[in-house]
Order: sequence, then structure tokens, then C-alpha cells
Amino acid sequence: MSTRGSRPPRLKPLMKPLRGRGKPSNGLREETEKEIQNSILEYLAYRKDVFAWPNQSVGIFDPVRKVFRKSHSKHHLNGVSDILGIYRGKPLAIEVKTKIGKVSPDQRDFLHQFGEEGGVCFVARSVQDVTDHLG
Ligand SMILES: [Mg+2]
Repeated sequence: MSTRGSRPPRLKPLMKPLRGRGKPSNGLREETEKEIQNSILEYLAYRKDVFAWPNQSVGIFDPVRKVFRKSHSKHHLNGVSDILGIYRGKPLAIEVKTKIGKVSPDQRDFLHQFGEEGGVCFVARSVQDVTDHLG
């Protein structure tokens, strides 16, 4: 069942309580890239002008060998963005990063070519970055 457009997004707090090791003095930690990506996908699912999905960038899981297999296709493309979709009829690519995450050269090249070909693409470190770009 689709929930697109049915209710406003639940925006998650930027900082979450930290459990376990490495706890900073204020008891909070930075969100992981996966958490930011999930918040962005929840937000995009609520928008009626976006159809978006997470890009499967890790390899396909091999249940026999219990490992992630990387693609060995000669057509495999490195640096494909974390979120792909369609925004108002245009291809959409969003590279998700944490506050301090660095964009790799492959990711930068992908975004550059995506934009050259007419796509809407950007790096997002928060839901706010997405609303800034898409309005
Ligand atoms: Mg990323």
C-alpha cells in the first residue's frame, strides 16, 4: 500500500541519544548516513512531485557464501548516487552525506554527468538540504 501524499513527514531530530562507546559529553551523536538517507526518503515519499527510491550500491548478498558480491560487469558504474528518482519529470539523483562526509571523485563525476544530461542532482546532508534544492 502506498502512503505517498497521505500525511506529513515525521521529521527526525538531527541528534540522537548515543548508546555504547564513544559517547560525547553531551550524550548525543551525529546521525549516520543511513539515518539521514532514511529521513530524506520518508520526506520524499510525502511529496507528490517526487518518485524516489534508494539506490542499491552495495553488492548483491550471496546467501550461500554469506558475502556481498560486487558487480564485475564491464557496464558497472561507480559513484552512483544514494537516492534516485524522478522530480517533476526530470531524473533525480541525491548523494547523501553526513555533516562531515566527503564526496568521492566517482560520486562527483556521477553528479556532474547526471547534471550535464539534464538531471536534477545535489549532495544532501539533511532533509533541509533537500527542501532547499527542490523548494
Ligand atoms: Mg553517500
